Amino acid sequence: MIRKLLRRVFTRRAQPVRHEPALIPAERHHIRREQLSPAARKVCSVLQEKGHKAYVVGGAVRDLLIGHPPKDYDVATSATPEEVRALFRRSRIIGRRFKIVHVMSGPETIEVSTFRASQDANNADTDEHGRVLRDNVYGSQEEDATRRDFTVNALYYDPTTETIVDYHHGVADIQQKTLRMIGEPRTRYREDPVRMLRAVRLAAKLGLEIDPAARHPIRDMAVLLENVPAARLFDEMLKLLFSGYAVRCLQQLREEGLHHGLLPMLDVILEQPMGERFVWLSLENTDERVRQDKAVSPGFLFATLLWHEVLAAWEKRKDRGEHGQPALFEAMDEVLDTQAGKLAITRRIVGDIKDIWALQPRFDKRAGKTPYRLIEQPRFRAGWDFLRLRAQAGEISMEIPDWWDRFAHAGHDEREALIRQSPAEAAPAKKRRRRKRKPNDAGVTQGGETGAEAA
Ligand code: ATP
Ligand code: MG
Repeated sequence: MIRKLLRRVFTRRAQPVRHEPALIPAERHHIRREQLSPAARKVCSVLQEKGHKAYVVGGAVRDLLIGHPPKDYDVATSATPEEVRALFRRSRIIGRRFKIVHVMSGPETIEVSTFRASQDANNADTDEHGRVLRDNVYGSQEEDATRRDFTVNALYYDPTTETIVDYHHGVADIQQKTLRMIGEPRTRYREDPVRMLRAVRLAAKLGLEIDPAARHPIRDMAVLLENVPAARLFDEMLKLLFSGYAVRCLQQLREEGLHHGLLPMLDVILEQPMGERFVWLSLENTDERVRQDKAVSPGFLFATLLWHEVLAAWEKRKDRGEHGQPALFEAMDEVLDTQAGKLAITRRIVGDIKDIWALQPRFDKRAGKTPYRLIEQPRFRAGWDFLRLRAQAGEISMEIPDWWDRFAHAGHDEREALIRQSPAEAAPAKKRRRRKRKPNDAGVTQGGETGAEAA
């Protein structure tokens, strides 16, 4: 009783206008229900007709307010997962830790979650660092708002009334371009260190400033990311790299000190002098593709991010007298193993990465029947894209991808002519690199700045 009273007084003092949410009408936020996906509207209206509360929540509302097209839609409701499941024929309950319902409608999947209580040491299991392990408690809408990470992510949009329910001044924060944590930032990072990465990603993607109170603790607390399971970190890295703002995200990660010694991948990306140009080119490429809604492949991106590590490891092995191809395969495994502990790159993606790398030395062989066999490889196109990126970064001459492009598109006679013109057997990588240092012979189209020279 006394504790309850104390808590009430304390929360009042810390956050005086917590209890009554602001109801913001359409004239003030300008989101019309027609801007939402048909599926999101339908899910809300079906739930509301049955007497439940139902709102579009989270990223979609935030993105619409900022003027970004939402990636997908989340719905929050007072209905239990079982109640939701019963209302939609094409739906299924997923998640063991906390049940949510996927409702399929046309090509869309809407994620529907039941209002959940906030995560704190009182109602959740934590590990020894305070990281919340289980948080499966249903709650009120107000509690649901409070357990969310940032004020701009705790906005509830009702498609029926076109009203936004705002418990934490999220609309004002969006107008002021501020990413503000709900509650005490250190506590919230301790509960879930991934929120640090989310802060950086959302700020970079949406052009928001991280509020100083949420920004300052990051440097100190970055080390907590070490306790986050590798699979979760990998998911978060994928979100970051495929946000369409990877370049900005990674620059900000570096500024916040979040990359150092934390994820081997980030160290590699941000601290290798050798392949810096290659890595940034590749990230710029990816950002452009994402923003144009073109397909992107994690395998391809990770292959580029780690390529210069592989080159270095390969070179070392060859210097020790190991043979070309087997040494490359050993180098590939070595680099991927270093990543594996921290970042659970899925097996399928590892397969894609290796395919792309393994093709690279084969592009040196432009004699006899070999080129015919190479262009028939299923991964030829990805391998060639990779090759061209290497040339754009100045690692190899643009003449090589150009040759392969012509070869792949030529008829039989022209192909034979191309083979006759090409060097009988291209020089091994090491020799070619040495030659490349001569003026006029390097990186023809890109000013010839190899990673090594840039270093
Ligand atoms: P995007 O989908 O653009 O990546 P998002 O904010 O929608 O951004 P989701 O992972 O889809 O991110 O999460 C949906 C909502 O769930 C968030 O808006 C936020 O309210 C809440 N949420 C997600 N992750 C966390 C977290 N680690 N801690 C607290 N709340 C979270
Ligand atoms: Mg989302």
